[in-house]
Amino acid sequence: MVNTISRIIADLHQDFQGCLDGQLADYIPELTKADSNWFGISLFTADGHGYSVGDTSQLFTIQSVSKAFTYGMILDEHGVEKVNSRIGVEPSGEAFNSISLDPETGRPFNAMINAGAITASGMVGGSGLEQRFEKIRKRFSEFAGRELKIDDEVYRSESATGFRNRAIANLLRNFEILDDPVDEAVEVYFKQCSILVTCQELALMGACLANGGVNPVTGDRVLKAKNVERVLSVMSTCGMYDYSGEWVVNVGLPAKSGVGGGVVGVLPGQIGVAVFSPLLDEKGNSVRGLRVFAELSRLFNLHLFNYPAISEYVIRRVYKLSEVGSQRQRIKKHHDVIHEHGDKVTVIELQGDLFFAALERLTRIIERNAETTSTYILDFRRVVLTDAATEDLLVNVSADVEVTGKQLLIVDPASVLERSRPDLEACKVVFTDDVELALEFCEDQIIAEHVAAPTVSDLIPFHDFDVFNFLTSRELSEIEGALEMEHFQADACIIEQGSQPDMLYLLSRGSVSICLRQGESDSEKGARVAAFGPGVCFGEIAVIDGKLRSADVWADDPSTCYTLSAANLEKLEQGSPAIYAKIIKNILLLQIDRLRRFNQEVSSLRS
Ligand code: GLN
Repeated sequence: MVNTISRIIADLHQDFQGCLDGQLADYIPELTKADSNWFGISLFTADGHGYSVGDTSQLFTIQSVSKAFTYGMILDEHGVEKVNSRIGVEPSGEAFNSISLDPETGRPFNAMINAGAITASGMVGGSGLEQRFEKIRKRFSEFAGRELKIDDEVYRSESATGFRNRAIANLLRNFEILDDPVDEAVEVYFKQCSILVTCQELALMGACLANGGVNPVTGDRVLKAKNVERVLSVMSTCGMYDYSGEWVVNVGLPAKSGVGGGVVGVLPGQIGVAVFSPLLDEKGNSVRGLRVFAELSRLFNLHLFNYPAISEYVIRRVYKLSEVGSQRQRIKKHHDVIHEHGDKVTVIELQGDLFFAALERLTRIIERNAETTSTYILDFRRVVLTDAATEDLLVNVSADVEVTGKQLLIVDPASVLERSRPDLEACKVVFTDDVELALEFCEDQIIAEHVAAPTVSDLIPFHDFDVFNFLTSRELSEIEGALEMEHFQADACIIEQGSQPDMLYLLSRGSVSICLRQGESDSEKGARVAAFGPGVCFGEIAVIDGKLRSADVWADDPSTCYTLSAANLEKLEQGSPAIYAKIIKNILLLQIDRLRRFNQEVSSLRS
């Protein structure tokens, strides 16, 4: 089956195939040798997948597209401050080769016009023309993911005719923007413009910028992350010369064009796009390049300022512990306490990308629930991405929660957040990988606060089990004779999935997990679907309906159980039907109670 994106760009290519408006660049004689029909469109995603149609393997000279990348290189090499002192970031609104410098400082307006670009090439460190050019060629090759070569003919052709650029360079020298040797800077610039690329490679170079400065195919960092934003900013205001304003309105992507016919555009975080077609308009921009970009932007809604409101979806849901509890089954009394006081725990589930607007929403939810809440659980299991500024904001949220004496638990199994931050630790934020553990932890706190919970070593006497409610003391002593006691080590398998149900268990001490294995070959422990604490009866359902055990039961801690065998239960049924009836009714009541809780949970999940 054809890939839909491939088909759409193939259609687009078809639509503009016949457009032969514009002229080949002829001020560099060698460029007139280009074929007017050449036309390619390439897309590279920020995760390194390429789409291409047309003449996307045809080599052509990179020309002014190089300016964006050399600007990035000198930012990496010298830092913003030094670069800023020599090259501005203001759009000039003039042609690419205009002889215009800031009248006060002599600085070129920006690095996308020739004056700024020649200055940038002059700032690439090294001794001698070859070494400095080699540095540029190497770095461009890393962007393109292939060893790039120079077109010597084009270079010589431009060097032989580049008087205007030499004049600009000398003017720059006059204002002490450009250091000596001036000629060398111009030659480095001419050589850099003559580097050969394909449309596919240009798209990948753009994708490196879309991907925060890392080549998504090779995985190499090709530009410092902090400089990407600056390069893209200048591209978006100045990249298309005196067409830049129109471009931002029509296309809305940072982009750079060159007289070789290439145009590269970048949608940060998503794609790099390149169009190659050497017929140019009077401003030196590829005619088909402009048209295809405008159409692509419209088709795929790529305009940077046309951003969907996402903050609404970032909060997946908000619930209270009283509505949705952990999977731990407890004695009824404890469930009742949790139900009664569970409003004090507010769970906020977040999803997707966590940026400013999402955090702002979170602050509103925290504020709205503040009166009743003593613990917030932030469930980050579905959060994919955040950034440093948002993380700082979260630290501020944590601090505000902490000063009011409330606690904050963050469930973040994928470590989206940098949890070892001392400022987070100072706010006493507790991290866990498991939302179950967080819920259980809060439940335990509520129980400890409102009822005396048994300590680990206490054995719950059999007559305290809910399953023996309503039994008279005579009946209880009869039951006692039917019970046995079993001890299990931590990690022992108490019940095996698929086995015969011969026993019901009353957990007197310790803790067990119910785990479900999927499929025959699954020898792992399987997913935990529930956990039981002391006072809870388990294994009773299969004893009653006679079906094979439907899950494994594992001892999490050293555990002690009273056991009532199926045979003894049957004896009770025959010999003491009154006792049997009470036990069955108690089991039924416990199941009803569970069902009620599940129903409430399901309805709160659906709402
Ligand atoms: N080498 C060309 C020049 O400086 C690059 C110009 C361009 O691509 N706009 O004239």
